[in-house]
Amino acid sequence: MSTAPDVRQLGQAETGDSGLDRLHSLKEGDTVKARIFRYDPSKDAEPRYETYEIPYMKWMRVLDVLNHVAEDFEVPMAHRWFCGVKKCGTCAVRVNGREVLSCWEAAEPEMTIEPLGHLPVVRDLVVDRKGYEDLVLKMAPWLERGEPYPGFPEHITDREMARASLALDCLSCMACHSACPVLDLGDETRFSGPAPLVQLAQTALDPRDTMDRGRIAIEEASIFSCVSCYRCEEVCPTEIPIVSGVIEPLKALAYRAMPRAARHQAAFVDIMMKRGRIDPTALVLRTQGAGAFRRLGRALKLLMHGKIDPVKTLFGSSIPGMDQVRRLHAAFKGKRP
Ligand code: SF4
Ligand code: SF4
Repeated sequence: MSTAPDVRQLGQAETGDSGLDRLHSLKEGDTVKARIFRYDPSKDAEPRYETYEIPYMKWMRVLDVLNHVAEDFEVPMAHRWFCGVKKCGTCAVRVNGREVLSCWEAAEPEMTIEPLGHLPVVRDLVVDRKGYEDLVLKMAPWLERGEPYPGFPEHITDREMARASLALDCLSCMACHSACPVLDLGDETRFSGPAPLVQLAQTALDPRDTMDRGRIAIEEASIFSCVSCYRCEEVCPTEIPIVSGVIEPLKALAYRAMPRAARHQAAFVDIMMKRGRIDPTALVLRTQGAGAFRRLGRALKLLMHGKIDPVKTLFGSSIPGMDQVRRLHAAFKGKRP
């Protein structure tokens, strides 16, 4: 008898929060309670949630639950899917606050199912992807070759394509876009989110491409707004190393194209080298200059919660053992290509 592989990540075994645990949390005859987001912006003043009880069937996925509600219960609920086998990326939703592909996620006993975040809702679980698609077009998603096309089959090795092929696994599902906390800031940043950057990397990291993609990453995607928090990587269904394999290499290209645009990163390193610790107040002042004083309300909140310490900033206090920090930094710099 075949069993599903145990793919629990660090901490999931203790909390019972993995795909495997979820798969075993129900048996035939149980009931799945699905609380589903319902909203038609053309008719409804406010979104609402409706709860449905569905009989559990073996191997039931979130998509099966949605299809059961729409087809068996004949609820006029909008949800999107196409291939059903983790290839097309159209069925991404949030289940209990986590971004998943509904075709690839086991049903849970109780689920709140919502549309992806940071995207306008067309109806119910269907979101408008136009903003993303327009941005991908601005990334010039074609190869700009330095040499003429040599004809098929073109000789190129796995090793030469290794970096670009990570990004080529992208399904355009937008799970990473929904999870990115920088996009919670709305118009305060011009950040595109990670998904268009993954599309950009498909050509930017291809050795045959000659376009100045670093400049595109800044001008169209505001890449330096990414805070490298790794939330996007945590939810990517195809396990693309979005930060280390896509965004960091793109940031390096962007830095080469426009070093002044990396003000935040340069200030971060400079402060670390002087104080051996992150000083959020100094970082904001260095990055935003006088503009930082427009957000005094937020600064006060941070002060009250003990997140910033202007006294330490004022006196530029550093941690003990700064020599070691500087030696480590120098050694790391020496190893970088
Ligand atoms: S690493 Fe960057 S792109 Fe990914 S979720 Fe965090 S801020 Fe967003
Ligand atoms: S990078 Fe991953 S999460 Fe983001 S759109 Fe592509 S497949 Fe989806």
